[in-house]
Amino acid sequence: MTGPGAAGRPEGSALPERAAGPEGAAGPEIRRWHAELAWLGRGGVRSGVLIEASGGVFRAVTPDVPPEAVPPGTERRPGLTLPGLANAHSHAFHRALRGITEAGQGTFWTWRERMYQVAGRLAPDSYLDLARAVYAEMALAGVTCVGEFHYLHHGPGGVPYSDPNEMGRALIQAAAEAGLRITLLDACYLTGGLAPDGTPTPLSPVQQRFSDGDAARWADRLAALGPDDHGMLAPHARAGVAIHSVRAVPPDQMHPVVEWSHRLGAPLHAHLSEQPAENQACLAAYGATPARVLDGAGALGPRSTMVHATHLTRHDIELLGGSRTCVCLCPTTEAFLADGIGPAGALAAAGSPLSVGSDSHAVIDLLDEARRVELDERLASGQRGRFGAAALAGAATAAGHTCLGWPEAGEIVPGALADLVTVGLDSPRLAGAAASTALESVIFAGTAADVTDVVTEGRDVVRDGQHLLVPDVPLALSQSLRPLLA
Ligand SMILES: [Zn+2]
Repeated sequence: MTGPGAAGRPEGSALPERAAGPEGAAGPEIRRWHAELAWLGRGGVRSGVLIEASGGVFRAVTPDVPPEAVPPGTERRPGLTLPGLANAHSHAFHRALRGITEAGQGTFWTWRERMYQVAGRLAPDSYLDLARAVYAEMALAGVTCVGEFHYLHHGPGGVPYSDPNEMGRALIQAAAEAGLRITLLDACYLTGGLAPDGTPTPLSPVQQRFSDGDAARWADRLAALGPDDHGMLAPHARAGVAIHSVRAVPPDQMHPVVEWSHRLGAPLHAHLSEQPAENQACLAAYGATPARVLDGAGALGPRSTMVHATHLTRHDIELLGGSRTCVCLCPTTEAFLADGIGPAGALAAAGSPLSVGSDSHAVIDLLDEARRVELDERLASGQRGRFGAAALAGAATAAGHTCLGWPEAGEIVPGALADLVTVGLDSPRLAGAAASTALESVIFAGTAADVTDVVTEGRDVVRDGQHLLVPDVPLALSQSLRPLLA
């Protein structure tokens, strides 16, 4: 969900060590799971899969191992085990709007006003509490990595905190405490929007909290966040960059963001053409669509991800696909906000990898996001079967991780980060699923509530539906949300 006028270890934060298990003189602990069924990407769904990991990385993956042949200490995993899910587009604080913005009618723009009210109340400590709870909800839904599109940088009136990255560090800490990896997509956000005639509009009082003034100062703040030469902020946290949108960043201010992406090898994300009004204002301002403006700024390419990409011209689709720019679809948010249905099939055919995100967190359910990519395509085209279950699962796993700068995650193969998500097949929704179509059952009928176990880099985060690091996730959510909505 977007905002304007319509994208080294931090000091002072207590980050747990990367999940690798205890290491003794004999080396890293070896963990083993025996999955009743596991989706092995191009290998399809296999049964009796013995999965071995150490040091947070898969070491061996062996299908067709009978139960009596597994080594002692191996954990059984009934159900279908998937790689970790990547939520490629999140604004953690939008979780506060769930449900309350469904009363009455409203538009994207009235929803945004309510979102600004919540933004105006957040401070670093309250944002830490809220984000920890929201990320814990994500973990329960099988998410092992989140792309946090972060633009709430400063205090009231736009006054920087003593550490100008205090809000970003709170998000990094929240992810650690909820057991997720995070890519902090630090967004440049400078103008209040574009009027219908293309005139830039000034920042509203709440929007002042989003702005660094100009892109050079945005870059200075990012440098102070302290990424190493590879863009790492902590073992579980990677720096990414974002151009909020063409509404919030004039083209002549985009270059520093693109430059930082090149310097760090960091993902670059941007909101793109979520609403027709954005396209109209952009055409009036710059004589080009948002996709062409971003292309002209050098912001497209294989390391870039455009979020939404709902209202595109044929030429826009060719620009995105031809440059292998990833597109992150957020189908639940796009439906809740009446954004429209994007051209997912055409984008994929043109060459764009697709990922998914829960964005405004109207719901947090990556299985729902994934299936809606195909269901929306069916509604728009009148045809079934553009995206099969494996393609949709790939969007929620490998493609999502790659577009967040973690290409080493999202597959159950030796050498990949040891993330596992197990979906039970014994719930009322999934009972009776056939082994041969278990992936289809899970993608097209499963929900977040069917996730039983989550392992992130070899460490248990969710076991039997219980979060092991945040003991009472509903309580954590209600306690952090109540003050924001009073
Ligand atoms: Zn968004």
